[in-house]
Amino acid sequence: MTEFLTSERPSSIVQGAYLVAAVLFIAALAGLSKHETAKRGNAAGMVGMVIALLATLLLVARRAELPDPDGEWRGIGATLGLIGGAVVVGALIGAWRARTVAMTGMPELIALLNAFVGIAAVLVGYNSYFEPGELSSTSEGVHLVEVYLGVFIGAVTFTGSIVAWAKLSERMRSAPLVLPTRHLLNLVVLLVSLGLAVWFVVDGGEIADGVARGVVPLGIMTVLSLFLGFHLVAAIGGGDMPVVVSVVNSYSGWAAAAAGFMLGNDLLIITGALVGASGAILSYIMCKAMGRSFVAVVAGGFGSDGEVSGEARDYGQHQEIQPAQAAEMLAGAKSVVITPGYGMAVAQAQHPVAELTAKLRAKGVDVRFGIHPVAGRLPGHMNVLLAEAKVPYDIVLEMDEINADFPQTDVVLVIGANDTVNPAANDEPGSPIAGMPVLEVWNARDVIVFKRSMATGYAGVQNPLFFRDNARMLFGDAKDRVQEIARSLT
Ligand code: NDP
Repeated sequence: MTEFLTSERPSSIVQGAYLVAAVLFIAALAGLSKHETAKRGNAAGMVGMVIALLATLLLVARRAELPDPDGEWRGIGATLGLIGGAVVVGALIGAWRARTVAMTGMPELIALLNAFVGIAAVLVGYNSYFEPGELSSTSEGVHLVEVYLGVFIGAVTFTGSIVAWAKLSERMRSAPLVLPTRHLLNLVVLLVSLGLAVWFVVDGGEIADGVARGVVPLGIMTVLSLFLGFHLVAAIGGGDMPVVVSVVNSYSGWAAAAAGFMLGNDLLIITGALVGASGAILSYIMCKAMGRSFVAVVAGGFGSDGEVSGEARDYGQHQEIQPAQAAEMLAGAKSVVITPGYGMAVAQAQHPVAELTAKLRAKGVDVRFGIHPVAGRLPGHMNVLLAEAKVPYDIVLEMDEINADFPQTDVVLVIGANDTVNPAANDEPGSPIAGMPVLEVWNARDVIVFKRSMATGYAGVQNPLFFRDNARMLFGDAKDRVQEIARSLT
């Protein structure tokens, strides 16, 4: 065994395995981009991760069998024991959280996991600075830059993700924190960090009185970047929160890539870059879907005064409907569009909704779904729920595909959606969600809105749809109400 580990073969096996894993990760991303191939994509990612973990263990075992720079062996047993212990504990906690988390709690869980990637990059950075391993004098400068960037990106990711977690789980108010000199403040932090980088690279390799001289600039920069992460994400809020989820996800990818550079691990660099780039692309797509400028959202509250509550207007009286009447209306309809939102996830109404859909289709009614890109609390939230309830993919359409069809639609069922069907986004320039493209459900002949009260949605804005002549409110828990309608449909 020792002979095999100390030969050159494990290195080639690991490189080959990393290549296969990288290809599988790319295949996973490609698969996840479509409903039909999402499961296959997930499987490719899981197989890739198992290969990557096994190859890394082999690498660790090889390193443990080789003497370290002081000529001492660390011992394969102790090394693998430590890593194996950490993997088992981590896997148990991860499995428990994944099994117990509610679908509505996913965004904040993802934000918290991103925070772990950030803090890991910071710790890897400090470790790599104090224990650099063997470096040639020419590569010392490069290594110091890697350490500095890794710690910077990791620290921004860490506090940014913690703030995103706090906002998404309503531990912190979602409204943007708008300090008067916020952009200047960010700029000063960036410039000072740049100055500290020069100091670190020039002095970082020196040791005075047994202390590495780069500790001071590295330490100050860590504090500054922790503040920057907090401030950048605290300044984003309200309707822009969906973008925050994918922006911090992107940051975590870059933090992982930086850690890959410091550890000299190619697969970590590739994986981190994949996550970083796909997170950035997703953020851009979401900004476009919400009618926001990417730079404005990422810079935080740019050009806005940070207000999230619209002016209170009197829109008149709303009208109510009962489940039996709704069933009658649906039975007489030729075309029905269902637009689900966060409330469907809260009520876990997706299975009764699928059942109602099947019943209506069996009666010859044309039923389709219209999905807003930021419906729910995480990208793809509604698609996942509908897929879970086995709603056929071909009747689930994107907002752009369905919006032109509303004028020819008899009945729209708005199930727990609010901001994503709010006409104020089009009609009220002062509204906090002004400019966000929405599902134009009010153009249908009749609209039935399922919700428990007249309360506002995530953005805290009243919805004039509820007061339109062709809209009826069906109050109560969406799951119960949909079940009652399905029962009434004979
Ligand atoms: P909203 O959050 O605007 O509204 C959801 C509605 O569901 C509420 O008005 C609520 O009304 C109703 N509801 C809640 N529970 C139930 C229940 N058990 N039964 C029936 N109704 C219920 O939802 P949308 O999906 O339309 O919009 C998503 C919002 O979240 C957008 O503002 C988006 O920007 C934001 N967001 C999206 C993210 C993403 O990535 N998709 C991430 C973060 C934020 P009531 O209390 O009266 O029942």
